[in-house]
Amino acid sequence: RRAHYAALKNRPSVTKDGVEITLLHNSGLVADLPMLDDTGAAGVGLFRTELQFMIASRLPRLQEQVELYAEAMEIAGDRPVVFRLLDIGGDKVVPYLRSAAEENPAMGYRSIRLGLDRPGLLRTQIRALLLAARGRPLKILVPMVTETFEFRQTKQVLSKEMDRLRRAGQAVPEKVEIGAMVEVPSLLFELDQIMPESDFVSIGSNDLVQFLTAADRANPRVSKAYDPIALPRLRAIRLVVDAAARHNKPVTMCGELAGKPMEALALMAIGMTRLSMGPASIGPIKEMILNLELEPVKAAISEALSVGANGNSVRNLLTEWADKQ
Ligand code: PEP
Ligand code: MG
Repeated sequence: RRAHYAALKNRPSVTKDGVEITLLHNSGLVADLPMLDDTGAAGVGLFRTELQFMIASRLPRLQEQVELYAEAMEIAGDRPVVFRLLDIGGDKVVPYLRSAAEENPAMGYRSIRLGLDRPGLLRTQIRALLLAARGRPLKILVPMVTETFEFRQTKQVLSKEMDRLRRAGQAVPEKVEIGAMVEVPSLLFELDQIMPESDFVSIGSNDLVQFLTAADRANPRVSKAYDPIALPRLRAIRLVVDAAARHNKPVTMCGELAGKPMEALALMAIGMTRLSMGPASIGPIKEMILNLELEPVKAAISEALSVGANGNSVRNLLTEWADKQ
């Protein structure tokens, strides 16, 4: 299979009816970046910067952060890398940053909440990213945005750091783009506010589905009960796709959904054209894309979304459709 998928890596990722789908890696360690050459992916859609913090025994220093980000950009070359700001907390434990015990860590003091509350940490990371770019374009993703206000505050920290570097006579990136993650349901009802502020958005299906269904993503006893591509979840995701289209902003799916064939099909059917996934999923998803007539699936899913499919199951509909191919 490996050789089979390797043979696809230079083929453009386009459906049989001409829809171009951008395939990207989820990553977090420099060690897996050279895999971009093996998969032929267009870049890194999600670089989980917290991994460096999770495997360290103390806070990584500014220079250590700079080195990691610079090396990642170096290996990626012309391919974009989207660096997600620290997403610590929840299931991502960093022992030396442990604060008070929490009843519900997934909904607790985490991610950009922690970043804005401890601006030293956030400032250092943003500075490291700006320095690592050494003038090259930079893409930054903000996790767990719950309100547009938090995104604005993060942008203020970014612009202060830019000014600081400029005043110090250091190179700043030729272009900095910053995007919000849509993974907290409240943001679904503020899409027309967040979109104009955001250069791009990225959907984190792992958290979005967890919070939409009130089912712990780390507890399969409950999370397995709710199909992430059942109609209510797909409708929620479609809200983001449609808002992004209205505001002419790129939207990427970077949660685990994008790397699973049936789920990826559902996402493409509602108009998603940017999918970020574990490197091992690129081959199988690309093979599916190369053999796909997307238009009929779009029509079927669109009807299901408006009239309601049997038992809420988009999955059955897609399975039936796939069996007929
Ligand atoms: C997500 O929530 O879907 C996501 C991409 O981020 P993480 O899995 O790192 O929380
Ligand atoms: Mg998340």
